[in-house]
Amino acid sequence: MLATITCPECNAEGRFSILEQTYEGPYKCWKCRQLFYIELDGGDVKTCRLLGDEEFARLQQVDKLKRKFKKGEDD
Ligand SMILES: [Zn+2]
Repeated sequence: MLATITCPECNAEGRFSILEQTYEGPYKCWKCRQLFYIELDGGDVKTCRLLGDEEFARLQQVDKLKRKFKKGEDD
């Protein structure tokens, strides 16, 4: 499904595809390029906090692995 996230920094709306109703992980604003850690529940943003480059990269790795496992051989 697609979740819509409004960037707290620049108010740009970003579309973000999530695998399930909930999502916890990294998000990067397409406009101001600010990095965030977000928690989504049914498309609602529950948590949104600023992330540093290193933490973002680490979370992105975790997210990639998760998607790989879910998708199986399609990737
Ligand atoms: Zn932004």
